[in-house]
Amino acid sequence: MQTYRNYIGGDWVEPSSGNYSEIRNPAQLDEGVGRAPLSGIVDLDQAIAAAAAAFPAWAGRAAPERGRILHKVANIIEGQIDAWAAELTREEGKTRTEARMEVVRAVELFRYFAGEAWRVGGDVLPADTPNTLLYSVRVPLGVVAIITPWNFPLSIPVWKMAPALVMGNTVVIKPASATPIMALRLMGALHEAGLPAGVVNCVTGSGGVLGDALVTDTRIKAVSFTGSYAIGHALYQKTAPRLVRTHLEMGGKNPVIVAADADLDKAVNICVRGGFGLTGQACTATSRVIVDRSIAQEFSARLAAAAQKIVVGPGLTDGVQMGPAVSASQRDIDLAFVEIASEEGATVVAGGTAAEGYGYFVKPTVITGVRRDMRIAQEEVFGPVIGIIEVGDMAEAIAVCNDVAYGLSATIVTNDVRNSIRFAEQAEAGMLKVNQPTAGVSIQAPFGGFKQSGSGMFREMGKGAVEFFTQQKTIYIDGQ
Ligand code: NAP
Repeated sequence: MQTYRNYIGGDWVEPSSGNYSEIRNPAQLDEGVGRAPLSGIVDLDQAIAAAAAAFPAWAGRAAPERGRILHKVANIIEGQIDAWAAELTREEGKTRTEARMEVVRAVELFRYFAGEAWRVGGDVLPADTPNTLLYSVRVPLGVVAIITPWNFPLSIPVWKMAPALVMGNTVVIKPASATPIMALRLMGALHEAGLPAGVVNCVTGSGGVLGDALVTDTRIKAVSFTGSYAIGHALYQKTAPRLVRTHLEMGGKNPVIVAADADLDKAVNICVRGGFGLTGQACTATSRVIVDRSIAQEFSARLAAAAQKIVVGPGLTDGVQMGPAVSASQRDIDLAFVEIASEEGATVVAGGTAAEGYGYFVKPTVITGVRRDMRIAQEEVFGPVIGIIEVGDMAEAIAVCNDVAYGLSATIVTNDVRNSIRFAEQAEAGMLKVNQPTAGVSIQAPFGGFKQSGSGMFREMGKGAVEFFTQQKTIYIDGQ
């Protein structure tokens, strides 16, 4: 099993503790994927110091020069897509196809944000006095901290890091403990592309050990976090006193509304892709289906039948359509929610148990008879579990859609433009889809959640990411 080291100041550095965690394939528990450092505060301090030292020179480079390096990183990853995808599957469990899409996404993100180096400008404004030049530019913030979850071990680090870097910031990243290997592999590509020492630093280890020290360090000028509401909410209390710019993207409880007029085959397909794709381990995964009572029985039967047909197994095995939960604890959470739903009076019509295999497999699960006040209707599961809630009309459907603490993504399946417009106007979520799965985002579009799904002030990807990782400077030059 390969032993990885922290990436600090352009070097591969042993953790001061000398300890490592062993990452195992969640679909094949006897297969080791790699050993990742269990770092301490000393390692983190070195990483922040390296990023702070590298900042002036990196910020001082012409932006297109920074963009060229990101293009090189994209080329390096693109040259090894299949190998990276296989490693991603071994580490996180998603299928080869899903992993490949994630690697391709990482390449696209590097290219997209590399391009911003040539595009981001400022404004030239009319001055109040003659012979005066009044303009504004975007400048970097300094050293930024990036904290990422385990479900997209490559693309989430990239969608934060690429805009941060191209805008001239330097980075300290702390990836999730469950999946640190892809982030460390990414460090290798950045190194090979010629990124100057210290511009990116990666320290792996427990968020409980490193988190506070990272986000409260006065050298850190911004924090970009993706993860659970509980951790994000606590983190915000730590950054607020320093007024440090903080971006939080958190959980979801994403609904699909199936209108009475919906094409049922299309609706089932949208729910299967959104709910069981990526093993339901996406912040945008479908976890509630809100269906008109007139079609509920037929729809539920078809969704249950489709769920039962999904082939569950190791993501690198041909024909497998859904991989395992990432860990024993995530599998146990998935199954505990099924039990809670049953105790509260709902009915499991597909799955609901572990699936066979030497890994953390869970069967795609469909639960009917869910009421909007049940825990299965309110709390994020983060697994392949869909609850079906019946409603009497579109007004009730939209009320149920909005009746949760989260607001990340929501879909309606309908052929009636009036339903689509009403949904677009009234649904409370940062991303709304008509006749598309709740999961799936475009890198050029703003991405982020309402309510407890996000801190809301900024958006990720597209222009929002550039805005988060820069501040505006306004310049008045009197030419008299
Ligand atoms: P998590 O437990 O909140 O962890 C996220 C990151 O925070 C990990 O790197 C974790 O480190 C770190 N962390 C833990 N304690 C910390 C502390 N005290 N201070 C600072 N950082 C700390 O989330 P997860 O289980 O990895 O990911 C699943 C969650 O992410 C779900 O809620 C999902 O909806 C959400 N998510 C949201 C989006 C989005 O864009 N909205 C995208 C993907 C996932 P350790 O791993 O070492 O604990």
